[in-house]
Formats: sequence, C-alpha cells, structure tokens
Amino acid sequence: MDYKKYIEVVEDFPQEGIRFKDISTLMQQGDVYKKAMDEIVTYAEEKQIDVVVGPEARGFIVGCPVAYAMNVGFVPIRKDGKLPREVVKVDYGKEYGKDVLTIHKDAIKPGQRVLITDDLLATGGTIDATIQLVEKLGGVVVGIAFMIELTYLNGRDKMDGYDIFTLMQY
Ligand code: IMP
Repeated sequence: MDYKKYIEVVEDFPQEGIRFKDISTLMQQGDVYKKAMDEIVTYAEEKQIDVVVGPEARGFIVGCPVAYAMNVGFVPIRKDGKLPREVVKVDYGKEYGKDVLTIHKDAIKPGQRVLITDDLLATGGTIDATIQLVEKLGGVVVGIAFMIELTYLNGRDKMDGYDIFTLMQY
C-alpha cells in the first residue's frame, strides 16, 4: 500500500527548517491505520516477541495495537518524572533537543524477546536510548518497527546489528 499519500508533511514545525511528517492523517483512515498495524504484527510474529516497548507518545500509537493483536504486554517508555514507581533512566539527544527517558525497573524480565516501536526514525537518538533501557533490564531487542524512516538522517547507523522494519521511507 502507498501509505505516504496519507501522511501530511508540515513545513517549519515544531521549528523552522523541519518538515514534520504528521501520522495523524493516516490514523484518521481506520482501514489504512489497521493495515499498517497488521503489517507490523506480521513482522512481530516472525520475530516471536514476548513484549512490545514504545517511547511516549507516538510509540504508543504503534505499539499498543500491535501488543493487543498479539496478546502480549506493552511497556511504556516515558520522560523523567512521569512513571510512578522505581525507574531506570538514560540521557539522550534527539532531532531537536535533549532529554531523559525512563522505564519501570520491573517492566521486563531478563531474556524476554522485545519489539520496540515508534512512529518515526529520525536521528535514532530516541530508539538508541530505548534500546539501552531494555538491555539494562536484560531484555533482548529482536526487532524495531517504525511507520516512517527519514533515511537522510542515517538513524539506522546508530542501530547496527539490530533488525529494523519500516513502512515508509523519505
Ligand atoms: P530521533 O530520536 O531523532 O530518531 O527522533 C524520533 C522521535 O522524534 C520520534 O519519537 C518521533 O515521534 C519524533 N519526530 C521527529 N521528527 C518527526 C516528524 O517529522 N514527525 C513526527 N515525529 C517526529
């Protein structure tokens, strides 16, 4: 399917010079959103995952429907100060800024096969930090799935050795 025709590209958002890829226009089309999630489910089934992990907020939009369809759990990665129980933290840099990401310390059991999800791969900073959090808890990252990959930012290079699945490339 040509998913790109459902993505709105917004100039100079959230700041000048950035061409923001808006997935909300794709999500408004129920059949297209479902087909996109079904493709990621097929990928995740091949990887025999035990759990899905996704960073806020758009990692939830991809990860939760996949986890639901596969009858596995979903683990949220959140900004510092948002998760209520004991967390593990990591610092990271992203396309436009710096931040801290956290995961609940008991969210993943050692050896669990993890699928990481997000809407978009840009520089790879967010997912690099997410991988670090999963691995600190002993999880095994068996696949990483995105709707969109911005190939010109070379985020893939940060994830050498990991299997990456994307539905669209710009
Ligand atoms: P990265 O850490 O540089 O790979 O940036 C990826 C993160 O920034 C993802 O969590 C995205 O949700 C967000 N992001 C960066 N650029 C865009 C965009 O053009 N559209 C939507 N989200 C974006």
